[in-house]
Amino acid sequence: MSNANNFIDTTAPGRKIDRGHYHPLTLVIRDIADAFSSLGFEIADGPEIETEYYNFDALNVPKDHPARDMWDTFWLKEDGSGVKKLLRTHTSPVQIRYMETHEPPIRIVVPGRSFRYEATDATHEAQFHQFEGLMIGETVSLASMKYILQEFFSKLFQNETKIRMRPSYFPFVEPGVEIDCSCFKCAGKGCNICKNVGWIEIMGAGMVHPKVLEGVNIDPRKWKGFAFGGGIDRVAMLKYGIDDIRLLFNGDLRLVNQF
Ligand SMILES: [Zn+2]
Repeated sequence: MSNANNFIDTTAPGRKIDRGHYHPLTLVIRDIADAFSSLGFEIADGPEIETEYYNFDALNVPKDHPARDMWDTFWLKEDGSGVKKLLRTHTSPVQIRYMETHEPPIRIVVPGRSFRYEATDATHEAQFHQFEGLMIGETVSLASMKYILQEFFSKLFQNETKIRMRPSYFPFVEPGVEIDCSCFKCAGKGCNICKNVGWIEIMGAGMVHPKVLEGVNIDPRKWKGFAFGGGIDRVAMLKYGIDDIRLLFNGDLRLVNQF
């Protein structure tokens, strides 16, 4: 080889290396964690493979309770331990695990993956992401929840957001409510995101059922708490205008490279 071929131009600019970036779901999870951290909440985590006890019984859904039909469950094969295991159907078992190991007052938010045994379409997937919150204190009420959630959604959507509650049923809360937030795009005037009603159905919530508190040795006469749970995928779809949940999981770079 001649010297000319060995020449290295030390003044040439370096090759540009492609940089990675966050997936839209990760962005939303980080936004949710930031918003709740600023409200004094701790971020908690738990296993995705759960026992029947933590996923159902401890949440006031005993065996043969009709409410179990609300969750289509992936049961795992018996592993010889005698404990029935499943892929968690919600992030709520983390509340139980946290309350078992921490004394109130408690303020946590739990973002994480959950699973349900069902066919997929534009709004349903066998895996999905939830964020779950729990606040326990001596004077906590539905009014405190309304304030916290209003602050949270206003931070998340960077817009002043209003909250409304409608009566609903979940076995682990009493009373239970559905939460709607005012549309972050049209502020209640009506648009395609809110289907012209000005409100978006966003989460389920309620006051923690006394039986759930008793189960983890927290005295329900002294301590009150609220809990809520919503879909992270749904928030990402609303925030970024994604019309099919499957796009969040199939790794199509035409979608993820937009973030
Ligand atoms: Zn709207």
